[in-house]
Amino acid sequence: MNLTPDQPPLNICMVASEVVPLAKTGGLADVVGALAVEFAKLGHDVCVMLPAYRHVDELGYQMTEGVRFSVPSGHGPIDTRVQEVFAPPLHVQGPGRLRVFVVRHDPYFSRSGLYQEAGRDYPDNLDRFASFCRTVMEMLIHFGEHDGWRADLLHVHDWQAALCAVYLRTLYQGRPSLSHTRSVLTIHNLGYQGLFPATQFSSTGLPLHLFAPAALEFYGQVNVLKGGLVFADLLTTVSPTYSQEIQRAEYGCGLEGVITERKGVLFGIVNGIDTEIWNPATDPYVIAPYHASDLAGKARCKKALQRELGLRLLKCPLLGVIARLTSQKGIDLVIDVLPELMELDVQVVILGTGEPHYEQEVGEWAGRYPGKIAVRTVFDEGLAHRIEAGADMFIMPSRYEPCGLSQLYSLRYGTVPIVRKTGGLADTVVAYTPRAFKESRATGFSFTDSSSASLLTCLLLAMSVYRKKADWQRIVKTGMTQDLSWSRSATTYVHLFRQVISQGGDQ
Ligand code: ADP
Repeated sequence: MNLTPDQPPLNICMVASEVVPLAKTGGLADVVGALAVEFAKLGHDVCVMLPAYRHVDELGYQMTEGVRFSVPSGHGPIDTRVQEVFAPPLHVQGPGRLRVFVVRHDPYFSRSGLYQEAGRDYPDNLDRFASFCRTVMEMLIHFGEHDGWRADLLHVHDWQAALCAVYLRTLYQGRPSLSHTRSVLTIHNLGYQGLFPATQFSSTGLPLHLFAPAALEFYGQVNVLKGGLVFADLLTTVSPTYSQEIQRAEYGCGLEGVITERKGVLFGIVNGIDTEIWNPATDPYVIAPYHASDLAGKARCKKALQRELGLRLLKCPLLGVIARLTSQKGIDLVIDVLPELMELDVQVVILGTGEPHYEQEVGEWAGRYPGKIAVRTVFDEGLAHRIEAGADMFIMPSRYEPCGLSQLYSLRYGTVPIVRKTGGLADTVVAYTPRAFKESRATGFSFTDSSSASLLTCLLLAMSVYRKKADWQRIVKTGMTQDLSWSRSATTYVHLFRQVISQGGDQ
């Protein structure tokens, strides 16, 4: 616990469209779930709010009757309800408290998808998430007036929750229950902004003057994330380098101007990983457990993986790729270096699904080099673990990477990451240089240009070091002993929360 008498526990309300184990389409859910638990473990009083999707109901967890509200929507007032959910995986044994609430309006949320069906976004997504955020604000007032629980911190995630930060400083400004509440917007991926036609602006319930370039307007459209960027008291991204990169046109997705204006309150905090699930010493998917001080099991994992994939049982370096097969992940760069790699004494395994042309191309390469390249275009959690355990190197040449998890798993499994120096990859992998190596800091290899030539040069360097067994082992062990836990990230968040709270005063 990190509390001292002059540092009382905080009341933290986390608002998100996904949280494990209730609703998940991507990493956002893992981050929110893990952070909520860590905040509570640190002694804070945490509540998490998410929509009552049909999937949440199907999980069958017990729920309270809840508190009813009537909130405005684009088509007149609607009835909503906030119910507490008793989801055992999100329970925390003191010293703090963790409660989970769902916002119910079945016509909006009791659907088969979270945001879309059959590849098409729901056309009323703005209505859905505006009513969600509006209900959260009402619930915070209810907490304040009926339970004496006042949120110190409103921690909102991505565009779906960003309107809470806007409401706090506009429609709900000056409400006594919220007078000392501060908001923090965490951006998990700037690529998703919540863009809607101007005609839908009324769904937000905000005064029309906020449909302006200084607030939610973005080239004639409504941009919900932009509203959050403008009104939140503090902004965070999931790595420091990404927080810098998004201030430039190359990575800013059109929002670089707004972000630069607010750079004084923008911070990057690297995500952690679940060190229980991703632990080579206890991983049930791994055939021979191992740890940093005894790597014998890793060699057995490699042989088992080669056997499973139909690769020859050679001692050469085995290079792994696990990724969505998209250009964001630089899979085209990997494909481009395959001809040169096939001239060398290496093997490659690629696990991924994504754009059909990439799936086809990597499949063709596997057909051309059986025994040397193995490809699986499926989603296979177990195989992902076995590749992390059995491969020698992990290739991740992303064009942009808000944080990235795969390279963190690779570090933990002693599978040396070869990464493009961007976003979270730049922040989590210490690139090999003679000096970094001498100081036992190097944990991987990195390159800067998004080009296959740079990737190849980097791979050649890694392979030359691989041949010096003791040197390689030092890099492996340095990576395996990094602190990748969530507790470190959560402590950093809380530190920032305290700073923004100490700035004090209703704004
Ligand atoms: P992103 O969230 O941008 O896709 P990350 O590196 O942050 O990238 O996380 C990707 C996660 O998805 C990792 O846990 C990785 O192991 C997993 N993953 C990606 N593709 C597959 C697949 N085909 N099978 C199993 N796991 C996969």
